[in-house]
Amino acid sequence: MQLGVTLADASEHTRPLRPTLTGAAGVGERSFLRRAGELVSSTPLEDWRAYLRYHLLSTASPWLSSDFAREDFAYRSLYSGAKEMLPRWKRCLRVTDSELGEALGEAYVDKTFSPRAKAEAKQVIDNIRESFRDRLMGLSWMSDSTRRYALGKLARMNEKVGYPDRWRDYGSLQVYNGAFAPNVFRANAFEWRRTINRPGKPVDKTEWNMTVPTVNAYYDPSVNEMVFPAGALLPQTFDASGDMAANYGSLGGSWAGHELTHGFDDEGRHYDAEGNLRDWWAAEDSVRFNEQAQRVVDQFAGYVQVDTFHVNGKLTLGENIADYGGLVTAYDALQRALARKAQRTNIDGYTPEQRFFIAYAQSWREHTRPEQLKTRVTTDPHAPAVWRTNGPVSNMPSFAKAFNCKSGDPMVRPASSVPQIW
Ligand SMILES: [Zn+2]
Repeated sequence: MQLGVTLADASEHTRPLRPTLTGAAGVGERSFLRRAGELVSSTPLEDWRAYLRYHLLSTASPWLSSDFAREDFAYRSLYSGAKEMLPRWKRCLRVTDSELGEALGEAYVDKTFSPRAKAEAKQVIDNIRESFRDRLMGLSWMSDSTRRYALGKLARMNEKVGYPDRWRDYGSLQVYNGAFAPNVFRANAFEWRRTINRPGKPVDKTEWNMTVPTVNAYYDPSVNEMVFPAGALLPQTFDASGDMAANYGSLGGSWAGHELTHGFDDEGRHYDAEGNLRDWWAAEDSVRFNEQAQRVVDQFAGYVQVDTFHVNGKLTLGENIADYGGLVTAYDALQRALARKAQRTNIDGYTPEQRFFIAYAQSWREHTRPEQLKTRVTTDPHAPAVWRTNGPVSNMPSFAKAFNCKSGDPMVRPASSVPQIW
């Protein structure tokens, strides 16, 4: 999910640096605006001044002198658990990406992402789509009328891979070699003007909601499209000259398959093939879907997030379903690719299927401090990486087969509690 805007995924692997102005301008939740309007008239002006002054300082402090930046870090680390500030060059790079993303992206793509890599990544993504189409045909919980619509929606789903066809023009933004914070403010103002000029104009379907170097991807139901920035299409996610089985496990399973399923699940059902808010599921689909979904809720609620806190099975449901659906779909796509190649090779003693699952697990490698895990229990619709790995694979007979696990082994869940969704 993207902050405040739509149901698009913006925090699959990483978190955005800060909420974007685009997000702040989205009118996704009318009751919020109504309540905010009431507060504007009922709250004394002095309170508003103090509140806005705080936010101005809080927003600016990372870009002011070191005293401010350190104080800001100390406060935020209470919730993130971070022990030290990122080095200065990394902070500079991050803010450049966040403020001038498409200018940085152009340079980034030149250095890192060849047209060949783009074509190969697109091939993996397209094969995943094909496999998902086959899965749609065989789902037992989906009624025929819903299935017909789903197939049409899949055919119309747009995809963006790597970088935009047309780069944003930053010509009206002035960047000076001087104090840093005013440059950030001018960049924010540039973005604000760009956003606020939108109403009344046709939707710009060429626009990207993530910058090109971002290691993330999203599905945006309001335009029915999946977007994979170049940052997410480099090793360890994807390697054009690397092992195909690994590419299907990481790019296919963690990213492409995951985003794809969002167009058709309990989130995507609310948006039609053009992105309009129109539910296209039949009533009985919900009943049958929810029965299976409850198994996912129970499975994840059984996992420990940190200390005595369990994963919130309901909050993380949509993402857990997408992980599981993405992985089974990617596994099918690998099998098709292997059948086409007609030759199976082992690498370092591992079969293609084993490499597929190993690459999936490797794509979730990350360090998270306990403080951060605690914060996320109540706020993050994604489960911790360890469960995003072990959860889906322990539901899959193909995983058990690949590693010769037996029924009753810790990584093999009993068939009676395994959900059947995608
Ligand atoms: Zn997702």
